[in-house]
Amino acid sequence: MSEVPVGTLDIRTIQSGLRTRRFSAVELAQAALAHAEAENPKTNAYLELCGERALGAARRVDEALAAGREPGPLAGVPVAVKDVITTRGVRTTCGSRLLANFRPPYDATAVRRLEDAGAVILGKTNCDEFAMGSSNENSAYGPVRNPHDLERVPGGSSGGSAAAVAQGTAVAALGSDTGGSIRQPASFCGVVGVTPSYGRVSRYGLVAFASSLDHIGPLARSVYDAALVLEVIAGRDEMDATSAQVATSSYTSVLDDDIRGLRIGLPKEYFTDLASETGELVMKGVAVLEGLGAEVRPISLPHTDYAVACYYIIATAEASSNLARYDGVRYTTRSAQADSLQSMYRLTRGSGFGTECKRRIMLGTYVLSHGYYDAYYLKAQKVRTLIARDFEKAFAEVDAIIAPVSPSPAFRLGEKTNDPMEMYLSDIYTITGDLAGIPCMSVPCGFTAAGLPVGMQILARHFDESGMFRLAGAYERASR
Ligand code: GLN
Repeated sequence: MSEVPVGTLDIRTIQSGLRTRRFSAVELAQAALAHAEAENPKTNAYLELCGERALGAARRVDEALAAGREPGPLAGVPVAVKDVITTRGVRTTCGSRLLANFRPPYDATAVRRLEDAGAVILGKTNCDEFAMGSSNENSAYGPVRNPHDLERVPGGSSGGSAAAVAQGTAVAALGSDTGGSIRQPASFCGVVGVTPSYGRVSRYGLVAFASSLDHIGPLARSVYDAALVLEVIAGRDEMDATSAQVATSSYTSVLDDDIRGLRIGLPKEYFTDLASETGELVMKGVAVLEGLGAEVRPISLPHTDYAVACYYIIATAEASSNLARYDGVRYTTRSAQADSLQSMYRLTRGSGFGTECKRRIMLGTYVLSHGYYDAYYLKAQKVRTLIARDFEKAFAEVDAIIAPVSPSPAFRLGEKTNDPMEMYLSDIYTITGDLAGIPCMSVPCGFTAAGLPVGMQILARHFDESGMFRLAGAYERASR
């Protein structure tokens, strides 16, 4: 059983392995759970493994195969789920002390769709508290370490999901992205990470951070695997009014397409403040695409400079409202010291939230307050429109945009914890995609001299995941 090489499998080898009876889904699940348990002390990527649930799902796959039924496109695939996504009966902490004992009564739609497709959910991954952070150091359950260098952060906030996939304990994972939290950790850990268009994947069951920016998306070790997982979880959902009525298509079917003549834009604003090695690796990636016949041209996204400020007004405003529900009355752990309703609220929230969440609740409450609303929140919404228009204009001239994911590769644990502004700037190139709601992804494009992975970002038009994957597929094929 333990000879099932979980860490090297991809979805296609799992499908053929199951069908040729090289291993059963239960054997694979057992090996994956054992591997995750053995590796976890190094990285702290998982907060909880759900062995029973995993083995139950694996058993159903084996039964389907034995009965000659189609077990689903993700049959037996070990998947990890970020702990801000609800799993029925399985603890969902959001990396917060406040939800230390929260067992949701329902599954997120994305989770349900994964299991309906045969996937085996292994466990829940560590993350920054309520997905607020860029290094996974804001988790109440300790930081995650980067499998490529245990002294460095895996990125955040989906750091646990990226580390789980990079260390080979899960074949794919779900993450969430509000301002870069899928792409930045994917880049830091050397895996593929996809932020789909806003509305492409149902957020039913995603614990809300900033509702107008939150996305669920996949992380995986190959473009094919990420495309397939997205195919499974994408599409309209009655349970989420913001999920779009836009037809989905097969993202895996475009991966072998030719990209000759495709027009790619390089935004000049994205190449000025980055570490030279990161820039060189991204430009090497661009050269590969050019070699495949893509036509590369410079473009400008003039409002880029305002993105971080705009994001931290909108995201904190929405967060301050979304986090109001953690008051000790409902899901949360409650402070035992309280002697009145007021003190119960105060003590519960005061001792439950970590520093970053408190900072954001205060900032968000301030920008929404009477007298400041127009000056901050409303203004930021206008700037957001300008940023989205920059992209619209650019996409009139080009089919896709290539950019770095983050200004530098994975930094050391503790390096930026005392300087929130420094930390916020590591999302400078990812925030714009979320503000505009367009699909974007990180694809590994090489390693620095110190052996740290770097990702290249591909951004495409609204709901043009196919165009984005076409480019990613061509790049991966040519660079292997
Ligand atoms: N790092 C950004 C933040 O702290 C983005 C987080 C996210 O995408 N969830 O808000």
